Amino acid sequence: MIPPGSTIGILGGGQLGRMLAVAAARLGYRSHVFAPEASGPATEVAAEWTQGRFEDADAMKRFAARVDIATYEFENVDPHAVAFLSGRVPVAPSAGSLEVSRYRPNEKELVAELGGRTADWRSVDSLGALSAALAEIGAPAILKTTLFGYDGKGQARIDFPAEAADAWAAIGSPPPLRRGVPAIVEARVDFAAEFSVILARAPDGAVAVYDTPENVHRDGILHTSTVPARDLILEQAPEAVALARAVANRLGHVGVLTCEFFATADGPVFNEMAPRVHNSGHWTIEGAHCSQFENHIRAICGLPLGSTALTGGRVTMENLLGPDADRWPALLAEPAAHLHLYGKRDAQPGRKMGHVTRVTC
Ligand code: AMP
Repeated sequence: MIPPGSTIGILGGGQLGRMLAVAAARLGYRSHVFAPEASGPATEVAAEWTQGRFEDADAMKRFAARVDIATYEFENVDPHAVAFLSGRVPVAPSAGSLEVSRYRPNEKELVAELGGRTADWRSVDSLGALSAALAEIGAPAILKTTLFGYDGKGQARIDFPAEAADAWAAIGSPPPLRRGVPAIVEARVDFAAEFSVILARAPDGAVAVYDTPENVHRDGILHTSTVPARDLILEQAPEAVALARAVANRLGHVGVLTCEFFATADGPVFNEMAPRVHNSGHWTIEGAHCSQFENHIRAICGLPLGSTALTGGRVTMENLLGPDADRWPALLAEPAAHLHLYGKRDAQPGRKMGHVTRVTC
């Protein structure tokens, strides 16, 4: 057990790091962020900030010496950096969880092995391989980079096989990786709705699962998350939760794990997972007794997990992208609205500037 009063190291200093540090502080922990940037949304709320590259072994060693445990707020950290760190200080989730969830073929293979369904997909390492894969799985399809994809980035839609070359160019015509393939192509799933399973798993195997939010995306970026979800999702949630639990158990995962699903006429289809707190779980700050951020801190520190029960009858989280954040005066005037702004200065279109959660009875 890592008791309150200890220092939690967080790799990454974005809004997820910010909300993790706030939850940690409430429980009496200090946070120390390690990030490539000089500052970020977590700056104002973390006790310490080290700027450094994840590949810089000396910087990592110094960081390890100053924290009692480390975690990460995004999966684009090199698993080698996490493995290196875990040789010096406890790290949760483990490098193994990261290895599986950051690389699309790994997560899909694990899910298939555990009996879950994914879209039909193929690895592709060249335009020729993409065309051959399209001949097998057909169009419409989506081409995705295997690494570093988030918020619809690194993706190209393919409506007709003739668009293969444009799609390959759109994701940057990626050269083959030293290990693994640079991209996959997957069949476009005809879904009725999207949802996610967010759970926290403790070192002793205890699991706390949140109500499954219904997620609406716009241009590949999450727009809203709502609980309770519509009936179709509620019917499919038990199967999806069972799969997410099986994934967490197989990985020996410690911390929050998020799995995203499509609700289809044939049941839930797994899309992707994140070994961390997730945007579709921001509603838990006010909408659940213990938030995903607090449960992540509890889990990695070996404290008992908190209740995931809802605090109200209906909870909706809306992301504030770019200029949406300028609506803050009106949002403050709404009695049931809980406003979160991440302290980012540059309100580029599509950039996550904050979110607002509404809890109603
Ligand atoms: P991802 O980065 O894989 O989560 O994709 C972002 C969003 O793109 C998803 O939430 C869906 O709205 C959409 N999307 C991704 N993959 C597919 C697919 N195979 N079929 C249909 N829509 C998809």
